Amino acid sequence: MVAAGTRDDCLADWGEFAFIDFLARHPALAQADLEVGIGDDASVWRPPAGARVLTTLDMLVEGVHFDLASTSAADLGWKALAVNLSDLAAMGGRPECVYLGLGLPPATAKAWLKEFIDAFLRLAECYRVRLAGGDTVRAGELVISVTLVGSTTAAPGLRSGASPGDGIYCSGTIGDSCLGLRVLDGRLAGLSEADAEFLKKRHRRPNPRLALGRKLVAAGVASAMIDISDGVVADLGHLLKRSGGLGAELESGRLPISAPARRVLESGRVELVDLMTGGEDFELLFTAPPSAAAEIAEIAAFLELPVAWLGRVVGRAGISLAGPAGKIELKTKGGYDHFQSQNQ
Ligand code: ADP
Ligand code: MG
Repeated sequence: MVAAGTRDDCLADWGEFAFIDFLARHPALAQADLEVGIGDDASVWRPPAGARVLTTLDMLVEGVHFDLASTSAADLGWKALAVNLSDLAAMGGRPECVYLGLGLPPATAKAWLKEFIDAFLRLAECYRVRLAGGDTVRAGELVISVTLVGSTTAAPGLRSGASPGDGIYCSGTIGDSCLGLRVLDGRLAGLSEADAEFLKKRHRRPNPRLALGRKLVAAGVASAMIDISDGVVADLGHLLKRSGGLGAELESGRLPISAPARRVLESGRVELVDLMTGGEDFELLFTAPPSAAAEIAEIAAFLELPVAWLGRVVGRAGISLAGPAGKIELKTKGGYDHFQSQNQ
């Protein structure tokens, strides 16, 4: 939580080159099998024979994506990589190399930066991703840009490809992260300590569903796939749009809701639709023909990761939700738009 340090323990004193040296010598740095890693003008990595190379980039900006007062350096380091891993998971890719671009205020505390890098590299180590390079520059506020390079020998899972009649599936549970954020910023109080901790953790430490994404593309069962960053409704909307303007019929009873989120729901403080539009779930949402149902169940059982059937793709545009009180049309124009006036 401490971003600014005193004169002799901040970045201005440590210096760019000492920082890069710290990175290059970090014990969690996996780059042994890189032809050229940190330290030269560019990295050199040989992709596996016959592989397609997948590349994705995500940026996090202080004041836009996070607030330093409520986000620890470790949580930020984890999340900066986790959100990129989630994008790669949604293509069925295997993460290979990562590049870290940092815009840092000179007053950034050395201890804060170390904690950030430790968490980032710990997650990289978990998935055997090599930190292969980056750039470090002075900035007025904290800016983190992560470029992740992955590979796949199977056909990648695209957003396009869904057909009417396909089932719609989702991993894990939805809505925990947006409830966790409400707990963190004080909008949701009075939960049991265990429930509050569970929801906060789901917000701070998303688990990218890499193994699921890879299994689905290897088996060739998913017709379309996306990761949930803006909420089920918005991201399903993106998938359906890229699949040629299709629609969906969802069944409210099938939505995967965790026990803590269900307790919040039952207390009447949020509605089901809030859990579908909150965002930052970082679960995988995919479609598959009915013939793939058994194989999907097998993959989910093998990974010990619940995968829920939420409904089906239909030819008519729009997303509906059928529940005990009847059928409602959900507003699909959701999702966070950085440049729309309501967000500024
Ligand atoms: P150049 O001026 O040639 O771009 P730099 O001094 O910026 O070189 O970087 C030196 C080396 O350190 C490069 O290999 C670069 O990829 C790496 N590097 C710099 N900043 C970072 C960072 N934030 N994360 C990972 N590697 C970095
Ligand atoms: Mg440079």
